[in-house]
Amino acid sequence: MPSLVDQIVAAISHVAGPAAPLHAPEIAGNEWPYVKECLDTEWVSSVGSYVDRFESDLAAKTGAKYAIATMNGTAALHGCMVLAGVGHDQEVIVPALTFVATANAVSYLGAVPHFVDSELVTLGVDPAKLDGHLDEIAERRSDGVYNSRTGRKIAAVICMHTFGHPVRIDALLDVTQKWNLPLIEDAAESLGSYFKGRHTGTFGKVSALSFNGNKIITTGGGGAILTDNPNIAARAKHLTTTAKIPHLWAFEHDDIGYNYRLPNINAALGCAQLERLEDFLARKRRVADAYTAAFLGVDGVRIVLEPDHSTSNMWLNAILLAPENSAYRNPILDMTNESGLMTRPVWNLMHTLPMYAECPRADLSTAEQLASCLITLPSSPSLAA
Ligand SMILES: *Cc1c(COP(=O)(O)O)cnc(C)c1O
Repeated sequence: MPSLVDQIVAAISHVAGPAAPLHAPEIAGNEWPYVKECLDTEWVSSVGSYVDRFESDLAAKTGAKYAIATMNGTAALHGCMVLAGVGHDQEVIVPALTFVATANAVSYLGAVPHFVDSELVTLGVDPAKLDGHLDEIAERRSDGVYNSRTGRKIAAVICMHTFGHPVRIDALLDVTQKWNLPLIEDAAESLGSYFKGRHTGTFGKVSALSFNGNKIITTGGGGAILTDNPNIAARAKHLTTTAKIPHLWAFEHDDIGYNYRLPNINAALGCAQLERLEDFLARKRRVADAYTAAFLGVDGVRIVLEPDHSTSNMWLNAILLAPENSAYRNPILDMTNESGLMTRPVWNLMHTLPMYAECPRADLSTAEQLASCLITLPSSPSLAA
């Protein structure tokens, strides 16, 4: 009987071959003609028709009323914090298990991330645990909810749809509505993912998407803010484009804006990539099914499955070692990466990073288990049989 490590490495290479990146972009549609058109017409920068088209294509695809393209997902998240009204010295609830950009966006406003736990099934914020934690530490005052331990106002809750798997967003909305807190979705990983038939990123007050090179579609670098609120959408566009008042020749700005707009050349890539999304989604599901089959007979490890009531984009496949097998995590990471099979652990939990070590936090025992037992697998659509 081969060792557990050998069985796991064999199951990964059964699907991914002898060597594979974690997630490679695929440029095989209209990217060349659309980008060429930008170059030929010299509309390469901050103005051009592809930005408008990409924004309306994104709104149509997600069902959000408005989409505002930005230069990356982190800029979109920063914009979401501003638009949700997060202020200096306030706290924002953030999952400890997320990519660092989620917490950084809070910090850009001079606010403090307050870390909460995730669920084993969705890998996202645990609604029941969040509710219990708020019952314990939160205090209602006339002007909002406060952390009674730190005295800071709690401004919002952010959830993140890890690897494309939607959080239990109806249960989470029950909690945020009970506490009258706005929900912000970090949907950077979940374009093409639905909860009960509705696209992720359309439940929160505002949401952020990312089109970085390793995401399900890419614009080279890029992101977007989604919202259904026309006033928030107008403000999002205004603030991400230097807060300039439209005028024939005057440079009038009425706020401290950001130069966060997506260049036309990147938006052209985005339009072409978005045309391929359904094909990517179908092939990524086949890759996920192949991993599920490959790991069926391997005891002591399980593949992370699509949560109930959800259609996941299956962006990144992951396996979870049983807790008693966590010591095998690093040998598996070593063995696969040495042979060119790109696997990764989950991100270092936010509260373990030096700049966030002193932040308030809830019990994080599930996130800690996930951090020690999870391995992500090569998941490019090109791996589909
Ligand atoms: C990729 C990602 C971001 C940031 O997006 P960029 O476009 O790289 O700035 C934010 N949050 C999560 C969860 C991500 O995976």
